[in-house]
Amino acid sequence: MLGPSRPPARSPCEIMPISEEHCMSDAYEALTANLAAADPEIERLIEAEGRRESEKIRLIASENYVSQAVMEATGSILTNKYSEGYAGKRYYEGQQFIDPIEQLAVDRAKELFGADHANVQPYSGSPANLAVYLAFLNPGDTVLGMALDMGGHLTHGHAVSATGKWFNNPRYGVRKDTGLIDLDEVAEIARKERPKLIICGGTAIPRTIDFAGFKAIADEVGAVLMADIAHIAGLVAGGAHPTPVGHADVVTTTTHKTLRGPRGAMILANEEHAKAIDKAVFPGLQGGPHNHTTAAIAVALREAAKASFKDYAAQIVKNAKALAAALAERGFDLVSGGTDNHLILADLTSKGIGGKPAAKALDIAGIELNFNTVPFDTRKPFDPSGLRLGTAAVTTRGMGEGDMDAIAGWIDRAVGAAKDGKDAELEVIAGEIREYTKAFPIPGWRA
Ligand SMILES: *Cc1c(COP(=O)(O)O)cnc(C)c1O
Repeated sequence: MLGPSRPPARSPCEIMPISEEHCMSDAYEALTANLAAADPEIERLIEAEGRRESEKIRLIASENYVSQAVMEATGSILTNKYSEGYAGKRYYEGQQFIDPIEQLAVDRAKELFGADHANVQPYSGSPANLAVYLAFLNPGDTVLGMALDMGGHLTHGHAVSATGKWFNNPRYGVRKDTGLIDLDEVAEIARKERPKLIICGGTAIPRTIDFAGFKAIADEVGAVLMADIAHIAGLVAGGAHPTPVGHADVVTTTTHKTLRGPRGAMILANEEHAKAIDKAVFPGLQGGPHNHTTAAIAVALREAAKASFKDYAAQIVKNAKALAAALAERGFDLVSGGTDNHLILADLTSKGIGGKPAAKALDIAGIELNFNTVPFDTRKPFDPSGLRLGTAAVTTRGMGEGDMDAIAGWIDRAVGAAKDGKDAELEVIAGEIREYTKAFPIPGWRA
């Protein structure tokens, strides 16, 4: 069977809002020339990963493709420097150039999100969240977050996480009939449990988060409100999701998901909490900041402030809605019935296959995503009923709504083939996708 025909190829420069000098076709060779000689084993594996990222349709909702410029900053000599402290108040000499780099990242974060204060030093999303706990709580205090199996994150109080072991964690979820967060239920739990901190945001929430509604509950019970926008930060920056700034007291985010920066994190806060947040990150939780990451965050924030990033954010949502509609048309059961953002959660129960075997089959077929629990899942977390899909990465490659229909078709064929044990069909699909993706080159990889 012939798959959808391949659209004409475009250069990465047409797709990413990056400058001309970063569009060299030999970019991959430039980044790895010395590595190939110094450590051929690692270089070969990086090359293989580059090919994999180029030949597959990547739908993992937390992943993306960063620009060549972000990669160059990440791979720069800034990794050589120790800079404990903050700009102007360091514990090591030689900060003449690190200080302005970090200041640029901070200023751009404040400007982009309209926040009073920004800390760009957290090593990643999980340490950023832990820093907020450290800033506001003592061990044993009560934190109200969203349950992991309902769409929250490990660091929102799951039992195996430090946040679950060291704090008291009542949790909220979604309604069984709608798949949506019920703020009346959240308010009821908050009144009973009197948390010091309330967390909104998560890893598998396909719908708009009502930050004002959460703030009203936090105010009623005297709690600090933290919005964890790790997944949707790029949508917020690009105006495709309402902002928590102005509602939440503290906002945490990773920088590498829809925001399309390096692996890292930021904490945004009101002026009144600025000192507490900075002290919690350093010296409370971390030592020296990763200056190469800080520089790359600054680069990503500059990209995210461009008009083209607004178009990108809007296109992510259009693509997610198109993919959701195309999946629903093919009989996929979507949690909450669809999506408002970049993320789709599909319940495969009606398809007669578990999430894990489906995800493994899709990976063979060239479509990368993750198995995920769905709310009120009757199966176990390591073998749940759902699949989580996101459109941030495919949108970066320049794919549009038409491509989403093709993707839904492949997903449907692959899930059907997996259910019927037709392994050869998975290879056929992988071949079609290898051809198709050639039209969508990725930064940092030769076409
Ligand atoms: C990804 C994510 C995190 C954690 O980020 P890491 O960088 O993986 O530590 C935290 N919270 C939410 C909601 C996330 O989606």
